[in-house]
Amino acid sequence: LKSLLKDPTLLRTQAYVNGAWIDGEGTFDVINPARGDVIAQVTDLTRAQVTEAIAAAEVAQNDWAKWTGKERAAVLRRWFDLMVENTDDLATILTAEMGKPLAEAKGEIGYGASFIEFFAEEAKRIYGETIPGHQRDKRITVIKQPIGVAASITPWNFPNAMITRKAAPALAAGCAMVARPAELTPLSALALGVLAERAGIPAGVLNIVTTSDASSTGLEFCENPTVRKLTFTGSTAVGRILLRQAADQVMKCSMELGGNAPFIVFDDADLDAAVDGAIMCKFRNNGQTCVCANRIYVQAGVYDAFAEKLAAKLKDMKVGDGMEDGTVFGPLINEKAVTKVRSHIDDALSKGAKVAFGGSQHNLGGTFFQPTIMTGVTQDMQVAQDETFGPMAPLFKFENEDEVIAMANDTIFGLASYFYAKDLSRVYKVAEALEYGIVGVNTGIISTEMAPFGGVKQSGLGREGSHHGIEDYLEMKYICMAV
Ligand code: ADP
Repeated sequence: LKSLLKDPTLLRTQAYVNGAWIDGEGTFDVINPARGDVIAQVTDLTRAQVTEAIAAAEVAQNDWAKWTGKERAAVLRRWFDLMVENTDDLATILTAEMGKPLAEAKGEIGYGASFIEFFAEEAKRIYGETIPGHQRDKRITVIKQPIGVAASITPWNFPNAMITRKAAPALAAGCAMVARPAELTPLSALALGVLAERAGIPAGVLNIVTTSDASSTGLEFCENPTVRKLTFTGSTAVGRILLRQAADQVMKCSMELGGNAPFIVFDDADLDAAVDGAIMCKFRNNGQTCVCANRIYVQAGVYDAFAEKLAAKLKDMKVGDGMEDGTVFGPLINEKAVTKVRSHIDDALSKGAKVAFGGSQHNLGGTFFQPTIMTGVTQDMQVAQDETFGPMAPLFKFENEDEVIAMANDTIFGLASYFYAKDLSRVYKVAEALEYGIVGVNTGIISTEMAPFGGVKQSGLGREGSHHGIEDYLEMKYICMAV
């Protein structure tokens, strides 16, 4: 991997704590999912070392919070510039440890960097408020202050952007952060640490703690009273555990959890646009995103045509190593992911659905899977309730609007939803009726640093991105002054 990089110093296997690169006890392996080989052995910090990182963050935070917004903005901007300059290397590291095609990895670096650019600017705009006094001699002022040391736990599917989406608003707000990347993909996080150091982010303000034991780090984050904010992206199951653990300290939590996105195609939709949207929405990152379409509902009149057009598009898309030119579908992250896709397909088949395209593991072997379309899928099948997190598009048939809204909302999740339609009153009605934090209308791609990303119901708490995103790292203080 080192030989593929223009700047091999971006590849680190030590953790980044208090401005130093440190070793833990032992190491854990990072595996290239396309080839199955070990590409790095990353240091494994102990819980005591995570405690030390939190203590260092507290010290650093005291000073960082005193910097003006403009001063913080300047170093964050340098961090952004360095990310952009090093896009190729960051993408290569990302593809090597996570598997997504290089073009998509570059897209993720751009997306990840955009949060730093945005929140660098936002650092200057943490406005307070003056409120008319409630008595003649009283003045009311509201100021916003950094909440304190923030801790993050992030997943492997966006090894870069899930970290910047949290670190950028945290640092902009004046918080210090201790970030624990997914054990499957720590290299992208460590490369971000190298660039943060180069950008002049002071020692201790951003710490990258690599650990193989997620639950012990999660406990430390929840039990250490110095941590004032926990931000997590991952499954709802783990989110529940963390929320329970965080309850003892009444810690402020942001949770970006699982989704079960419906993608609805009405009979008045532009069908070709809907097919293109479905491809991007379902198959981006090989189906491994929490906003990927999980259930595709197609109105009866256009059902067959939609299935045919979708299959025709998939036919020409290449499955392969993400490092190779032209690859659209990389490998799945690991065997467990393959088993999940397989079980959703088998369950649907056993209940009467059919495979219209693909349906099995790819002849490349390993964790490569054929992009798959299933027809005749119904609400009683596993995929209706559970995220596949893989390249399987299940097509459900529906007759009318009320029916499809009820089916779309019949889930504990509420992150992203999508629909294609042209009738204006239908567009309004359906957008309002979907119980989701995000609704894509006539588009399959909704992620941007400019908008508030987040879910309702059991998909999470809080929002990331946009001016709302910084609020999760700020506390409001009301000052009542007698004059
Ligand atoms: P995914 O399916 O994306 O791996 P998880 O919720 O299992 O979703 O994992 C998301 C992140 O949470 C990963 O970095 C993982 O290591 C971490 N994690 C898993 N279990 C725990 C736990 N009990 N406490 C804290 N973090 C955890």
